[in-house]
Amino acid sequence: MVSRETEEDVFSCALCGHCCEGRGGIVVSRADLARLCEFLGLDAESFESRWSARRGEKMFISSDENGCVFFHKGKGCSIHAAKPDICRAWPYFRGNLVDSESYALAKDFCPGIPQRQTHGAFMRQGLSYLVGENLAGSSRPDEAAALQVSDLLEALAYNMGKR
Ligand code: SF4
Ligand code: SF4
Repeated sequence: MVSRETEEDVFSCALCGHCCEGRGGIVVSRADLARLCEFLGLDAESFESRWSARRGEKMFISSDENGCVFFHKGKGCSIHAAKPDICRAWPYFRGNLVDSESYALAKDFCPGIPQRQTHGAFMRQGLSYLVGENLAGSSRPDEAAALQVSDLLEALAYNMGKR
């Protein structure tokens, strides 16, 4: 039987806030930092000392007992218009795109992912979304590993070319 993608199969955020309640995993790339500084009216040094921590070559948004410091229960993300690319990209993280078990866990965690959606449909939609929104990483060390999908895009283009 051929399965068809319908509107119901498209990710739609339910604004539950689960993905903002984690600790310490939100990468701020150089491009994110510039956008956030402009949005908040801060220079990079001030942002870094006030809102972030560095681990190796990467900068991460700080967290507190509620999760991300910019998350406010009942109100959502206080930097929504300028939030980091990694936040814009969820749930289309590399791990969820390449690994069906990670995808299944993401489905349990995030009510925005349609239950009936197949992993294949999720992967196609995700790559299209990442490219369309200019979120696919370019392998710089300051970027989140979850956004590095150039090999997946090459494989997809190759498979499309064979059709
Ligand atoms: S967990 Fe999913 S549905 Fe909930 S806020 Fe995050 S993206 Fe939206
Ligand atoms: S920056 Fe905003 S969207 Fe990203 S984790 Fe924090 S509160 Fe959530």
